[in-house]
Amino acid sequence: MKFLMVGAGLSGAVIGRAMAEAGHDVTVIDSRDHVAGNCHTARDQETGVLVHVYGPHIFHTDDEEVWGYVNRFTPFKPYENRVKSTTRGQVFSLPVNLHTINQFFGMTMRPDEARAFLKSQADTSIRSPETFEEQALCLVGRDLYEAFFKGYAEKQWGCAPSALPASVLKRLPVRFTYDDNYFFHRFQGMPEDGYTPMVAAILDHPNITVSLSTPYDPAMRRAHDHVVWSGPLDGYFGYDLGRLGYRTLDFERFTTTGDWQGCAVMNYGDRDVPFTRITEHKYFAPWEQHEKTVLYREYSRACGPDDIPYYPIRLVEEKAMLADYVDLAKRESGVSFVGRLGTYRYLDMDVTIREALETARAFHGAMAAGTPLPVFLQDPL
Ligand code: UDP
Repeated sequence: MKFLMVGAGLSGAVIGRAMAEAGHDVTVIDSRDHVAGNCHTARDQETGVLVHVYGPHIFHTDDEEVWGYVNRFTPFKPYENRVKSTTRGQVFSLPVNLHTINQFFGMTMRPDEARAFLKSQADTSIRSPETFEEQALCLVGRDLYEAFFKGYAEKQWGCAPSALPASVLKRLPVRFTYDDNYFFHRFQGMPEDGYTPMVAAILDHPNITVSLSTPYDPAMRRAHDHVVWSGPLDGYFGYDLGRLGYRTLDFERFTTTGDWQGCAVMNYGDRDVPFTRITEHKYFAPWEQHEKTVLYREYSRACGPDDIPYYPIRLVEEKAMLADYVDLAKRESGVSFVGRLGTYRYLDMDVTIREALETARAFHGAMAAGTPLPVFLQDPL
């Protein structure tokens, strides 16, 4: 079969590779001038530092198959993400851990004491937290919530945390130990040369042709048997039913010599600091030496028609529109919607790769059975 992969990010590359390895003919297009989607990395010309061009991406997973998969294409270096947060004039350790709790409350509690203390702070009237705010109030109580989560989330999402789903906060652990690893997965690391060479290696197959700076044109369908769409779901339909809401990011780059903040990611919890975090990129590659340093101040805002979509918002309004787009999509044939934008979900890189591998398996199964390839393997709703 002849496949057209729209988007050269993780989904398009992994599914394209699997189809190519099975002997199919694969064309991968991307409207941007690089592969790897939003995990694209590039050398900063002035400093020589490897930059996460669209913001920090740290690979972490519990999925052995996915970890084996990425290591097949590029060497990974050990890397553990340790995030700090500046709030109310002090620097704290994130995710909320025993150090954060003791420092914040000026105490010297042991794990059990801290657990009991936070329980006493928690809002016990909330039985099953549904919103971000309820989840935080149950987990850490009002004081920590207001210092670390409320202002940050308002800046990040542009709405009240009482309107956000609890799932957003569930990404972050709360620990009653001094473990300040941001993630709790067994495998964590950084591709030695960045994500872009990793994705380029996945796409490096004799049955794959990659065309960059090539926007999708519906006329391309004629030359292909199946389209794998990893662009925005609403974009496929020309935004006919309206635009699904996304947050986009603006980065304010600055450089200096030496070291500026002493860590890779510093979050800013205060509402009156306009940015959410500052990333010092050289800390993502601690095995490299650089005299200069490059940093990005990160600002979040509503995504306009010409902006790059980052985070799907998925509030009530978006969900209703999403349901209508899903209905439209299910009436299509010859196309599959995949990945963060194609299914309008907040996906980590490892989950994106896991789903892409499953999608490729489903394609093989359908082709063997002579049935149509699925429009969605993962339900966006
Ligand atoms: N969050 C927060 N304060 C922080 C860090 C995160 O309130 O200091 C919230 C915020 O709403 C964010 C979510 O937790 O969107 C998930 O955080 P994560 O660090 O996973 O976000 P990402 O790196 O994917 O932007």
